[in-house]
Amino acid sequence: MASPKKMAARQRKTNLEQTRADTRASIRAADKILTRVFGNPELKGGDAVEILVGCILSQATTDTQSSAAQRALQAKYPTWQQLRDARVSDIARVIKAAGLANEKAHYIKGALQFIERERGEFDLDFLNDMNERDARKWLMQMRGVGPKTASIVLLFAQKRKVFPVDTHVHRVTRRLGWISEKTSAEQAHQILEALIPPKRYYAMHKNLIRLGREICRAQNPRCEICPLKEMCEYYQNFH
Ligand code: SF4
Repeated sequence: MASPKKMAARQRKTNLEQTRADTRASIRAADKILTRVFGNPELKGGDAVEILVGCILSQATTDTQSSAAQRALQAKYPTWQQLRDARVSDIARVIKAAGLANEKAHYIKGALQFIERERGEFDLDFLNDMNERDARKWLMQMRGVGPKTASIVLLFAQKRKVFPVDTHVHRVTRRLGWISEKTSAEQAHQILEALIPPKRYYAMHKNLIRLGREICRAQNPRCEICPLKEMCEYYQNFH
């Protein structure tokens, strides 16, 4: 006969497994609804260095502004060598539309210098030979590159099995109850990677961001029109 301590531990394990199964079911249902409402974004791949620069530009700004800044950057500096050799103040002037221009200019120039110093070329294809953890760690050696940016580069450019968590994904998944209130964005990467089917990482990442921007806003979420309200913990608690 098991001791009360062992029985309690067994019960806790059963409860945890049940919670995970419930969350996976909720994720599958949400994925279907979001695909119906927003569509099924498809992963196209792309140049990893370009995606890295785009991701640095996109921090704390809108897609429109960061895309405009990236186009301006490409027009002014058509090669990575030209961008690497440019003065930080000149880069900052070109990417002004994206905001935090000085900081981002430093990060972009620093990233290009780092890649060339380490690899001798502006190419990140070698990351395909590393496992996800090591590839993410390698990218995060660069200033301005955190878990979100590293994951976006690996998923978007190389179709790797990583799930990027930005501020929208973090907020929405906490409200839905898929991760706890106390889970940091950094911890959420690993937890959500274990819960979401890898082949749905890209579509769910994009659709959760869209939900976060348009409906589940940081202030005053528009729960009344939200397609996920029936399964949302926040909604059940506050309505
Ligand atoms: S019901 Fe409200 S809190 Fe929940 S996901 Fe939708 S908008 Fe966000």
